[in-house]
Amino acid sequence: MGLAPQFECWDCEPVALPPRSRLYSLPPIGIGSMFVESLTGYVSRLADAHAVSVGNLVGRELLLVSSKPRLPFGPFVPRDGTTKSHGFRGRACSANGWGERARRWAGALERATHQTNLRFLTLLPFEDVFSRGGLFRSIRSWCPACYEDWRCAGTIVYEPLLWTIRSATVCLRHGCPLEEVCPYCHETMSPLGAYTRPGYCSKCLLWLGHSGEPKPVDQFDKQARTHTEIWRTKAVAELLAASPQLNVSGVALKANLRACIEYVAEGNVLAFAEVVQLSRHGLNYLTNGKGLPELGTLLQICHQADTTLATFLTSLPVVDVGTWDRLKQTLQTSRKDCRVPLARSREQVRAAMREALHEQPPPSLSEIARRLDYKGVEGLRDVDKTLSKQLAANYRKSGRTHWWRNPGATRISEQADIQAMLEQSLSEKNPRPLYQLAVDLGYVNEGYIQNKFPELCSAIRQKIRKNNEARISTMEHALRNALNHEPPPSLDELRKRLGYSCSTVLKNHFPLLYEEVMTRRRLHRRQKILELTNALQAALSDVPAPSLVSFCKTLNTPEHILEKLCPRECASIRARYRHARADTSVRRKEQLQQEVRQIIQNMQGDGTYPTIKQVRSLLSQRSNWADVSTVVARVRKELRAIT
Ligand SMILES: [Zn+2]
Ligand SMILES: [Zn+2]
Repeated sequence: MGLAPQFECWDCEPVALPPRSRLYSLPPIGIGSMFVESLTGYVSRLADAHAVSVGNLVGRELLLVSSKPRLPFGPFVPRDGTTKSHGFRGRACSANGWGERARRWAGALERATHQTNLRFLTLLPFEDVFSRGGLFRSIRSWCPACYEDWRCAGTIVYEPLLWTIRSATVCLRHGCPLEEVCPYCHETMSPLGAYTRPGYCSKCLLWLGHSGEPKPVDQFDKQARTHTEIWRTKAVAELLAASPQLNVSGVALKANLRACIEYVAEGNVLAFAEVVQLSRHGLNYLTNGKGLPELGTLLQICHQADTTLATFLTSLPVVDVGTWDRLKQTLQTSRKDCRVPLARSREQVRAAMREALHEQPPPSLSEIARRLDYKGVEGLRDVDKTLSKQLAANYRKSGRTHWWRNPGATRISEQADIQAMLEQSLSEKNPRPLYQLAVDLGYVNEGYIQNKFPELCSAIRQKIRKNNEARISTMEHALRNALNHEPPPSLDELRKRLGYSCSTVLKNHFPLLYEEVMTRRRLHRRQKILELTNALQAALSDVPAPSLVSFCKTLNTPEHILEKLCPRECASIRARYRHARADTSVRRKEQLQQEVRQIIQNMQGDGTYPTIKQVRSLLSQRSNWADVSTVVARVRKELRAIT
């Protein structure tokens, strides 16, 4: 009789374990939302989760799993012989951008954590779409109210990608400006330092959050931040939120921009630049094919067109022309009183004329001139005499010329209507020229109106002449006034004040005064550069050495302007500040070492073992754990060697 089985059968086959990640597999925060985490923020959060410094995490762990383990992340720092330094000394925001570096960071982190979508914590989806110039801030920035809210709510404290982008200057939750200087140590910090912790200063290690007054989004306008700044921040945030779904390409962006300029300003880049309030240089890449658009430029265009960035990045050209209507209207309004026709290339005009050759019924030359924004047909003749002649001949052949002379033809306009129009025009402050009035009524020129209403016509002409005289005298007055001002206004400012689209009009009427203002401006610029240079040179002997950022604030001059006017002095100030910082750090370490040595000797004298915690509590100044532990280890070794 066999024994009944007493135990169930066990399956002793080893269970296939899923692969384990080297580091905690922390899920990234907010992918697909406006407040998606940044890759540098993710690194600091990962280090925090492992209770190690960012330096140790990056230098000792992440480097080993990177695609090039011998190439350090960030600026090269030689490891000193006494301590086994991790070799990581902070990193700028480029880890959040694109290119080889961002890919290396994201790749190493994905290998170490087994997360698969860390590229969405960077701008890798926008590679070859925007220019890198001025995209990221070089220093860390944050919203203290957001930090405080997260801490109070017990949620994860992190660093959104939005805060690293220069065009985003406002917190969209609290409406406050983003901060860049620690309120305790008054220092700025790099976006990813060796001791960065989410929510804490990486220099003095103190909590950066404090509660602000949370304000609803619709009250933004009433606060100090301008509407534009909020609009721009929001546009960038929306782009970040859409990045996982967007399939963007630089080619589509350029094609969209060209189509937009074609639709809005008939391909006239200069007129377009003016309507979106940009300099022509900002759009140069469209004409010379070199470089990429800056995010700031695109934001400015989108702001003027009141559309999202995604419109330019994804929609097909021409499909969305309705979106650009606002810009077109602005252009038309701004050019309503403009005397100069929309500047265009001769080739464009010629193409329009060639197209008109095949139109049926053939249009008259003056009709084509009107379509192209010319006052008369002379402009067209000037561009191409032969084409003009052909067009005129076609029109004559069609038998539509002088149709009003045919028996029984209807009048172009009733005399009463003409009179009413002339009287209306005369009563206006700025009457329109007779030629334009005649064309509006359907006449080829003002000859007929002049014959019928000579008095009214001469009154209108006289009024226009007087207005012109007044306009020219205002111009002269403005130029003379400008000479009495210190500093004299720029010519661009002057022409805007007077309502001209171009300052050449001032030059044409008053060449001498124009030259004088130009000379004064040049002198003013030279004087300003001299003053700034002197101030910067004086600052080179200031103790302690000021940083360029703090110095710009005292001079009340933006950093980029100072940099442009006095590049050499700015470089010297920067270098001196860097050296002073390095010196202070060395001195501080020496002092720390002396103090630690004294404390350890005292403790050993008392028969107590000097632990890092005890030594740290006895220090006269607060120092971070990593520094103290390095020094304690070094002093212990020294003292052991002596005994
Ligand atoms: Zn906030
Ligand atoms: Zn601080």
